[in-house]
Amino acid sequence: MGHSWILAVGDEILSGHTADTNSAWLAARLATTAHPCVRIVVAPDDEEAVAAELRRARQAPGVDRIFCCGGLGPTPDDRTLAAVAGALDLPLREDPRALAHVRHVVERMHAAGWTADATINAGNRRMTRTPAGSIVLRNRTGMAPALAIPAAGDTWVLVLPGVPRELRTVVDEEILPLYCAGGAAVTYRALRYAGVGESSFFEALQQLAGAFPQVRFGSYPQATAGDLLIRASGPDPDQVARALTALSRMRPGGRPAEGEG
Ligand code: ATP
Ligand code: MG
Repeated sequence: MGHSWILAVGDEILSGHTADTNSAWLAARLATTAHPCVRIVVAPDDEEAVAAELRRARQAPGVDRIFCCGGLGPTPDDRTLAAVAGALDLPLREDPRALAHVRHVVERMHAAGWTADATINAGNRRMTRTPAGSIVLRNRTGMAPALAIPAAGDTWVLVLPGVPRELRTVVDEEILPLYCAGGAAVTYRALRYAGVGESSFFEALQQLAGAFPQVRFGSYPQATAGDLLIRASGPDPDQVARALTALSRMRPGGRPAEGEG
């Protein structure tokens, strides 16, 4: 099993103007693959800052899918392509597939009456300069070319548009089937309790951590006061099931109200 890092790019996330729903959505998708997310980082619209985070991700042991999301657009604040090229030591060069895609979208927008011009401007052209060796992925819902870039050690750097609809389409249609398929996903299972304080689980969870070293436990108080979710996860579904059975037998918070996936 490998691991994913998500790097979300954007000043608007750091200032709180935009909530980082892309990373939350993507992490949930990756949890169903053999490349679960182990880190989410947000970087500003700054080429060096993005490149530094990418280099860090590449040095992290076991990380073989690095997602870089946002900042692919046609304005000067979109610096992701330059940052990725810098971090991977690859030159930027015009990509014929990216150019054909951008041209197609520009012409379609003009034909629909949304834009006055049917020709590509300097901002659009900038989006077509990708790091050498990039594979341009189909972006059915937008203009920004999404990319898959091979790096050493069966690692892929996956570059995605920030617009949520575009990001989701590219992930579901291109990345999950082509770059994250195969291998077993982590199993997640949970028990829900009502009217308990989470500290009453301290001893039981400590014992279970010793008895099931491959299973991770998390305790999550819910919005309804006193409701608590205890979630177990691990690579072996049997171990996860046995750990949760053991927890429900120990009854630290009384009987669990229900089991959840
Ligand atoms: P564009 O071509 O529109 O410039 P882009 O790939 O450059 O796309 P950004 O400029 O980073 O993407 O973001 C475009 C819009 O997408 C933002 O204005 C914001 O509304 C939304 N967005 C960006 N990042 C995120 C995120 N992490 N979570 C949710 N929404 C986001
Ligand atoms: Mg942008």
